[in-house]
Amino acid sequence: FEKIYRDEDVDLSILEGKTIAVIGYGSQGRAQSMNMRESGMNIIVGAGDRTRHSSWDKAEADGFTVYPIEEAVEKADIVHILLQDPAQPSVYYESIHGHLKPGQTLSFAHGFAVLYGTIKPPKDIDVVLFVPNGPGPVTRQKFKDGSGIWGCVSVDQDVSGNARETALAISKAVGSTRVGVVDMTFQHETEGDNYEEQVLYGGTIHLMRTMYNIMVKNGYPRSFAYAKAIRSIRSIIDDIDAVGIEAYLTSRASRTCEFAVRHSGPRVINEEAMQEIFEETERGIFARNWLQEFSLGMPTLNRMRRTWADSDMEQTGEIWREKFGK
Ligand code: NDP
Repeated sequence: FEKIYRDEDVDLSILEGKTIAVIGYGSQGRAQSMNMRESGMNIIVGAGDRTRHSSWDKAEADGFTVYPIEEAVEKADIVHILLQDPAQPSVYYESIHGHLKPGQTLSFAHGFAVLYGTIKPPKDIDVVLFVPNGPGPVTRQKFKDGSGIWGCVSVDQDVSGNARETALAISKAVGSTRVGVVDMTFQHETEGDNYEEQVLYGGTIHLMRTMYNIMVKNGYPRSFAYAKAIRSIRSIIDDIDAVGIEAYLTSRASRTCEFAVRHSGPRVINEEAMQEIFEETERGIFARNWLQEFSLGMPTLNRMRRTWADSDMEQTGEIWREKFGK
């Protein structure tokens, strides 16, 4: 089994006296900045023009010193890029690239831009990655509760010889080594994440939508179909996460449920399509499609958002949450 780094394996002293500039103050930016500050790190925030970007005011309200991105990069030892992914290349080439100097570390929370070459960092700096496997608000809440979110680190360029130690120290300052951090490549982090988004998130959400639509079409009450398609999944996930699939099936689910899962479940899954999506992701086809979609102003996404928002299931969901609570 691969090495799992915990607090006792990682030394924070590599970050002592260093300045970490967090660029972007959204979901991850806010959570990671606050956690690292509470771990004793010297954090500054780099934000876009405050007339167009709300990050500046948000970070200042949380007590951080905020600079224009160019200035934050110049003041930093570690430039931690937490901008939304598709915006990264333009912000990087406008405000970051020309201000980097040898000896600095460029750090990311997703490998997309580096893997696909939309950002090509200079050769004389360390390039690393630290990803907490969860949204910013959860990363923050877990840290406050004394826990953390498991994560991964990765090194793409190690000029100093200490790149991995730096990435691990960042992961510890954010709280992830309280739970566990693994080491992987930029390629696996990025493609694994994109594969998960397509298959797990995509598959689960389409499963919910299809199940709801079939039940309603066949005369079931909307509230019942909605509960079956969405609410039930909570207890399944929590139980499986706690005890594993086999123990869930044999000791927590009913025998009828166990039979249903083993007998009919495989028919719901299209393994061929899952393999195809995996190969497309590995060949960079998913990345190309997403970059193209973004550069065109997201026409497909915008169209789908309208249709989905108006759907029967969404309307039922609103009533459901009002009547049955969250
Ligand atoms: P958000 O969308 O929450 O935040 C994006 C930030 O980027 C905001 O502060 C926004 O500023 C800033 N920004 C966007 N465009 C520009 C621009 N043109 N100029 C200046 N600032 C800009 O992103 P996330 O926190 O979700 O993602 C950050 C990174 O973390 C990504 O690489 C993502 O893949 C990774 N990640 C995200 C996870 C998640 O669950 N959210 C989990 C793990 C990793 P403003 O709002 O002021 O415009």
